[in-house]
Amino acid sequence: MLDTEKIRGDFPILSREVYGKPLIYFDNAATTQKPICVIDKITEEYYNTNANVHRGVHYLSQEATEAHEASRKRVQKFINASDSKEIIFTRGTTEAINLVVSSFGNTFLKDGDEVILSEMEHHANIVPWQLLQNYRKIKLRIVPINDKGELDIETYRKLFNEKTKFVSISHMSNVLGSINPVRDLIDIAHGYGIPVLLDGAQAAPHVSVDVQALDVDFYVLSAHKIYGPTGIGVLYGKEKWLDKMPPYQGGGEMIAHVSFNRTTFNELPYKFEAGTPDYIGTTAFATALDYVEGVGLDKIAAHEHELLAYATNQLMTVGGMHIYGTAQNKGSVISFNVGNIHHYDMGMLLDKFGIAVRTGHHCAQPLMERLGVEGTVRASFAMYNTKEEIDAFVTAVKRVSKMF
Ligand code: PMP
Repeated sequence: MLDTEKIRGDFPILSREVYGKPLIYFDNAATTQKPICVIDKITEEYYNTNANVHRGVHYLSQEATEAHEASRKRVQKFINASDSKEIIFTRGTTEAINLVVSSFGNTFLKDGDEVILSEMEHHANIVPWQLLQNYRKIKLRIVPINDKGELDIETYRKLFNEKTKFVSISHMSNVLGSINPVRDLIDIAHGYGIPVLLDGAQAAPHVSVDVQALDVDFYVLSAHKIYGPTGIGVLYGKEKWLDKMPPYQGGGEMIAHVSFNRTTFNELPYKFEAGTPDYIGTTAFATALDYVEGVGLDKIAAHEHELLAYATNQLMTVGGMHIYGTAQNKGSVISFNVGNIHHYDMGMLLDKFGIAVRTGHHCAQPLMERLGVEGTVRASFAMYNTKEEIDAFVTAVKRVSKMF
């Protein structure tokens, strides 16, 4: 059992009010709030340790470098990568996917090749591939979902052929909450010798990830969804792939030697980290991971699961309620609409009760098309949310419903 009262005390923003009402923050799939230790770490670093990393002989630079590299090791431990050089810091999941699509795609994909995505992908795992299509005539093959919001594994199996070169699929849907059977997806792809990228933006805050046990080729995530700072993301890649992939961006840090005739590149992971990294952000991210693992990912997952079940049952008592996504294995995200009430109206009115939810297409327009809606209301829960908040939320949803 989580001590939510104690945990809430660690998140200063949760004690603020909006429109004179206590804030109920149910937009955690968009970004999570930050505990004091993370906020303090950022301040402390700027107060005491700010200096550019990797290049200074001076004391501060060395201290900053040590903290930054210790964070890489902290992330390595969090996802159980075999080596810290397989951890590339990026600005977020989006940049991590763009890096792989650009670097892997330009090197290993040729006209006529096929890439498998799914119907539930976030735009961050669709648009980069479409941008690549400007340079390579690759075909995107899409795994459909069933009416519960689960991937159709049999169709997935049938999509493989001699032209298939890559699989890129979300670990957990940011709309449906579906947690995909990634072990099976990877096994099937590897049976054809095809590498797999998992978009872990939503899964990493809720599911304990072991990239070695999964045998996944690439895994990407965003720190800001795991109680860490914005602007920090992670690309995990197997060394055997990263070694063969060219740099994504050029600049300082990523080179071994530069001349106008020929430039050679730095070793992993620096080859993929051009320019000054957000070393304060990475250090604060490590603090966030310490916090999360201090609470315990398993305990967090159990708590969120309880909230998910409770909220689902309560919401089903609202007339006209339609919940999108009833997968067997589901994370703490509920997308819904009530009758003909526009999702935007519902979200705006809930906001007046102090309840923060997300409305719209959630950067998943192809999925909206599949669901036959323009958008949904989305409530997503984190470790600090409570059943009392859900009660207030459901009461508010009922009151809004009666206004229409
Ligand atoms: N993929 C999924 C499944 C997401 O939920 C998100 C964030 N909404 C992203 C990718 C993009 O993450 P970021 O904006 O942090 O790059």
